[in-house]
Amino acid sequence: MSIAHILGFPRIGAQRELKFAQEAFWRGEINEATLRDVGSDLRARHWALQQEAGLDFVTVGDFAWYDQVLSTLSLFGALPSRYGFDGQHTSLENYFTAARGNTQHVAMEMTKWFDTNYHYLVPEWTADTEFQLQKNNALLEEVRQAQQLGHRVKVSLLGPLSLLYLGKVKSGLNSSLDLLHKILRAYQNLLSALQEIGVEWVQIDEPILVVDLSPEWLRAFEPSYQLLSAKAPKLLLTTYFDAVAEHADLLHRLPVDGVHIDVVRAPQQLEALLKDWPQGRVLSLGVIDGRNIWRADLSTLLQRYLPVQVQLQDKRAPLWLAASCSLLHVPVDLDVENKLDPELRSWLAFAVQKLTEIVSLKHALDGRLETVQAQFTLADAALQSRRVSKRIHIDAVQKRLTQVQPRDAERKSPFAQRIIAQQQRFDLPLFPTTTVGSFPQTATIRQARAAYKRGGLKHLEYLEAMRAEIAHVVAAQEKIGLDVLVHGEAERNDMVEYFGEQLWGYGFTQFGWVQSYGSRCVKPPFIYGDVCRPEAMTVTWSAYAQSLTQKPMKGMLTGPITMLQWSFVRDDQPRSTTALQIALALRDEVADLEKAGIGMIQIDEPAFREGLPLKQKDWTAYLENAVRAFKLCSAVVSDETQIHTHMCYAEFNDILPWIAAMDADVISIETSRSAMELLEGFSDFAYPNHIGPGVYDIHSPRVAKMSEMQTLLQKARQLLPDQSIWVNPDCGLKTRAWPETMAALEHMVQAAKLLRASC
Ligand code: GLN
Ligand code: ZN
Repeated sequence: MSIAHILGFPRIGAQRELKFAQEAFWRGEINEATLRDVGSDLRARHWALQQEAGLDFVTVGDFAWYDQVLSTLSLFGALPSRYGFDGQHTSLENYFTAARGNTQHVAMEMTKWFDTNYHYLVPEWTADTEFQLQKNNALLEEVRQAQQLGHRVKVSLLGPLSLLYLGKVKSGLNSSLDLLHKILRAYQNLLSALQEIGVEWVQIDEPILVVDLSPEWLRAFEPSYQLLSAKAPKLLLTTYFDAVAEHADLLHRLPVDGVHIDVVRAPQQLEALLKDWPQGRVLSLGVIDGRNIWRADLSTLLQRYLPVQVQLQDKRAPLWLAASCSLLHVPVDLDVENKLDPELRSWLAFAVQKLTEIVSLKHALDGRLETVQAQFTLADAALQSRRVSKRIHIDAVQKRLTQVQPRDAERKSPFAQRIIAQQQRFDLPLFPTTTVGSFPQTATIRQARAAYKRGGLKHLEYLEAMRAEIAHVVAAQEKIGLDVLVHGEAERNDMVEYFGEQLWGYGFTQFGWVQSYGSRCVKPPFIYGDVCRPEAMTVTWSAYAQSLTQKPMKGMLTGPITMLQWSFVRDDQPRSTTALQIALALRDEVADLEKAGIGMIQIDEPAFREGLPLKQKDWTAYLENAVRAFKLCSAVVSDETQIHTHMCYAEFNDILPWIAAMDADVISIETSRSAMELLEGFSDFAYPNHIGPGVYDIHSPRVAKMSEMQTLLQKARQLLPDQSIWVNPDCGLKTRAWPETMAALEHMVQAAKLLRASC
């Protein structure tokens, strides 16, 4: 008999109930008790779904008021001390202050959870950090709640080594491993407390095993788990997002009762793990994709895992079946998508549907295929229709890709030559000023867009509203005295959705929300078919904007990698192929913009860096393709047309050769909060093209002083040649209001002018 379980369920709720409750609580509209009730209702509902679907356990511990890493810290009272935590009890207030900051304290830093779009709060480690299991903590309470509801509980817990690894050493420590013995003691206490209240299994997540770990970290696993397993429920050590084949020996040696591996992302690791698999040890296979929304190919999975089941039976090793990782990364329930085209819908499975898939596979493997035949039939039919559907396979798109020549991805002349032609054409001053693209998205703009979508505003009325906004944005920029203008992106609700809606191959859900961080959710589109562009997407907006000014107007597009990273991507062809298809669609848009007289075109790639694979050995393949995709869309233009890109904040140092290989004439990046530190890498590398280091932070309404921007620019001048420096804010201005935007940009232009005068 195999066991069906999951590593975690989305906590936000099918209607984003948690988000709305959190936000109401922060605004003071509901009290803590009401918020807690919403949380406990959601947990109860999610466990009921797991039980009704036929899972053998419900998973407890995947709930968090904001973030699972923060919740683990709070379980051990290990929040940074500045948030007023008294050492005994982490209140919800301390917890939210750590997550969101208050007037005295900035929030904890946030960063991406491995290669997902989920953000966790980064633990801060100092020599004084203590780990003290909190009495009456949330986890024990949740376990009791599930037990009272009559569920068989498996607890999910972030493992101590991953928790340490994901934190940042702030002071007084050589390495976060210096805290190991302290943290292990606290975990021991927790595990024995869980054992005392009758928990049979704890799933202990150690996802860091999939990244390139140093020997020091690897060595820490065995002794740590010796300690932890001494007095604890049974431990299922879970890994996900990539392979752990290289640690097969270590995993075999670890004194745990089971191991979970992700065989969706890394199916090839199974063989290495199965070899010498210990007698009697549970192997949990993550067979259903926890990172994507496609209906599983149950028949193929059944064929693939029947022999594995036999192999395991020989070793009396129980087989467990699960989704590859926590279902946190997929939307909750497909059933509520009543507007979705029925054919598209038949191809999908969200968290709730995935529960049934896991259970169906379990029954089939256990010899009860007839009881789940209906599920298999539906899955087979969906697969067959995806294989042949003309909505997916567009011959012309595939053919075009095969005909791409290397020269299609190369500009006509090298940068040194292009920049002369561009300089002649635009005649820009030293330190040219510009912005990253969007201007404030006022309530009026959002209302107009929403009314248009609902049908309340006719097409021409909508055009008129947007044109009025463009005219306003252009006039404002002229008044400020910027050198290169933008149209302001009023027509865009989101930089990916806007383009996705105009491309073949993209689908959209109504309620497909996924938690990004805290109460923030995103609704990624899904790419189901070959991507192409039926008609121009931005040309009329940009051309209209250009008609209003003598200054150069910068066209504004979202790049292929960002279009890919922020969507659910089809699983029936390599991601790299989908990226190149998007690139070709964008190439046509770039060509059309150029034809319409737009002399500068910015192709945003804020997700370029986040697409990097978790293992360094896979970087080159990814980067080669990502650079190729960017060049494929940009290299279509003549030398005199200037290509810009924008990348927000990222760690660039280790990928600078690739950033340079993109060969954008100008790149803008977010540098103000790091006080231009990022530029040091560009400087050491002698980055050849032009750079616009952000001179003020756009995340806050605070208007930066002109002197601050001057200081930053002086710093930039120490690192880069004057001729290569552009002056711009850190990122787009869509979340800002007009008064602060005007003031800040005026300061920025002033700072650039003074600098010019001084040279
Ligand atoms: N052009 C986009 C904007 O200004 C860029 C946004 C981004 O980098 N995330 O809004
Ligand atoms: Zn940005």
